[in-house]
Amino acid sequence: MTNIVLFGPPGAGKGTQAEVLKEEYQLVHISTGDVFRYNIKNETQLGTLAKSYMDKGHLVPDGVTIKMLNAEVEKTPDANGFVFDGFPRTTAQAEALAKLMDEKSSQINAMVALEVDDEVLVARLLKRGKTSGRVDDADESIIRERVAEYYRKTDVLKDFYKTQNKYYGVDGVGSIEEITVRLSEVFDRL
Ligand code: ADP
Repeated sequence: MTNIVLFGPPGAGKGTQAEVLKEEYQLVHISTGDVFRYNIKNETQLGTLAKSYMDKGHLVPDGVTIKMLNAEVEKTPDANGFVFDGFPRTTAQAEALAKLMDEKSSQINAMVALEVDDEVLVARLLKRGKTSGRVDDADESIIRERVAEYYRKTDVLKDFYKTQNKYYGVDGVGSIEEITVRLSEVFDRL
């Protein structure tokens, strides 16, 4: 199995690239943001809870997020591997993911991080907000809160994977195709 954490701040392009890479490398793509939005759309209990955090630009609590991620992974026991998008976002989540992979006699092979300047992120998210219908993309103050939340809780995960020699940084500015090429160069070396 090859399991990759596709990492980066909000608006870095994780979802876009994961959609391409999952086909190229036959991986199952799990986006925690997409799973939460699916639950919100279907008005589940999890959706109602997640929405109260997401609409403010905050992270959903670890307990529910980890439980949900475990359930998503269990849906495809025969997967070749996974590309995780939007997970882990906290140290507790990274530890839970390591444990889950260990239980499957597998591991996270790499964290591949898209590097993009904060002001570029804010501009991208504001632009996406014009068409995405996402509440959290509609308002600049919520977008800035998401970026702040990233620096408060998530950015530190780079060190978590660096100490395991699993960190790969990739320039996330350029055309979608250019960035796919950069990511593929890393994936091909794993
Ligand atoms: P983006 O990376 O563009 O902010 P996502 O779709 O990945 O968007 O996530 C949207 C929101 O969903 C986040 O702002 C957060 O509230 C919630 N969320 C997604 N993944 C997680 C996670 N691993 N832990 C906690 N909250 C999460």
